[in-house]
Amino acid sequence: PSDSDLQILRSAIRDVVDFPKPGIVFKDITPVLADAKLFRLAIDCFAEATRAAGAEKVVGIDARGFLFGAAVAYQLGLGFVPIRKKGKLPYKTQSAAYTLEYGEAVVEMHVDAVQPGEKVVLIDDLLATGGTAAAAIKLIELMGAKLVEAQFLIELDFLQGRVNLPADRVRAFLHF
Ligand code: AMP
Repeated sequence: PSDSDLQILRSAIRDVVDFPKPGIVFKDITPVLADAKLFRLAIDCFAEATRAAGAEKVVGIDARGFLFGAAVAYQLGLGFVPIRKKGKLPYKTQSAAYTLEYGEAVVEMHVDAVQPGEKVVLIDDLLATGGTAAAAIKLIELMGAKLVEAQFLIELDFLQGRVNLPADRVRAFLHF
């Protein structure tokens, strides 16, 4: 993507102050989804990087990671795997817990969703503290698959979420 394309994409991200609770500035990506050109642009960013990374499968994080990840998988002719919050997946799962500001959360993946040695890319809309992505990467590695890259449309640089991830395999297209 060109710098001007990225600038157009960046300016479409809507800040929603105090959502879902006071003090949080929520980065709303729905204006990108709703605009045909911007949605294609966002998918093209992910798809180009996913192809370059040599990924064999796309893993998306609940729930906005599904919207981008599934489109990237379709575009590149790859399979798609959902990582979901606890209790949503119907078959046997592997799970990984991570800490939130208050308490703990658990993410799950089906035990047969990725194969040992398979090269996977992880996709989500936004990297904040990195807790969610770190748990997702733990799941991928527990199954013996290989993370080639973790990709995000947006990274909140000031939260330094990268320090919780394999930083050399983290890519974000827009920085705030
Ligand atoms: P974290 O585990 O802190 O990196 O949080 C990442 C997850 O929470 C992603 O799935 C994001 O969609 C969501 N998220 C966290 N902070 C924000 C924010 N400021 N705006 C939009 N989504 C967010």
